[in-house]
Amino acid sequence: MNEVWSKADLHIHSTHSDGTAKIPEIMEYVATKTDLAVIAITDHNTLEGARFAKSLEDLYDFEVVVGEEISSKSGHIIGLFLEEEIPAGLSALETISRIHEQNGVVIIPHPFSNRGIFGPFGRTAFAQAVNEMAFHALEIYNSVPYLGWANRVAAKMFAGGQGIAATGGSDAHLLQGIGRGYTLFRGTSAEDLRASIDRLETRAEAARGGLNVALRYAFRIPRIRRLQAWNWERCKD
Ligand SMILES: [Zn+2]
Ligand SMILES: [Zn+2]
Repeated sequence: MNEVWSKADLHIHSTHSDGTAKIPEIMEYVATKTDLAVIAITDHNTLEGARFAKSLEDLYDFEVVVGEEISSKSGHIIGLFLEEEIPAGLSALETISRIHEQNGVVIIPHPFSNRGIFGPFGRTAFAQAVNEMAFHALEIYNSVPYLGWANRVAAKMFAGGQGIAATGGSDAHLLQGIGRGYTLFRGTSAEDLRASIDRLETRAEAARGGLNVALRYAFRIPRIRRLQAWNWERCKD
């Protein structure tokens, strides 16, 4: 068994949805300012940015996972290792089954936030969903500052031992947010990461320096909100 553990940030946005950093900037930042071995680009309802990042992967010594954060009818769902883009607006179950069809990994991000599929008061929905929905992992750490409470609820719910892997992601919409939340996995490659999720041995962790990033977010939130509004318009087509 591989005894090397590495970090992956499995939740990053770029200018292809409502992030403020361009893909080449993200690649440079990850290479020079972080110790991440794997990143997933998970733009809202598009694989465009993730595919672009994947095409640049050979230039760097970390790996890129093609992902998408899909706006299902009941909230956001992340698919990793995707080949085909999945449209917004499907039910949660349909979204999840489309990810499975592609042999992708399903992660429920920020499950108890208002854009999370269980909603801010969704503990009952969560308990049912664990039985009904075949998801692989629950994001129990998301570094967007105002999600602190939702992270704590997610971590507590998760502590019940549901046979679901725990992952962490930054949900970075800014360059400086990348790597603030991450998943610790056994091995070094994207395929090791997938195997580690399957074995339920991943851990969610947070990097230091959150306050600094929180302040930057406070300045940029109006801009991110505008980008989100734009993205939402685009999703409706
Ligand atoms: Zn989200
Ligand atoms: Zn996100």
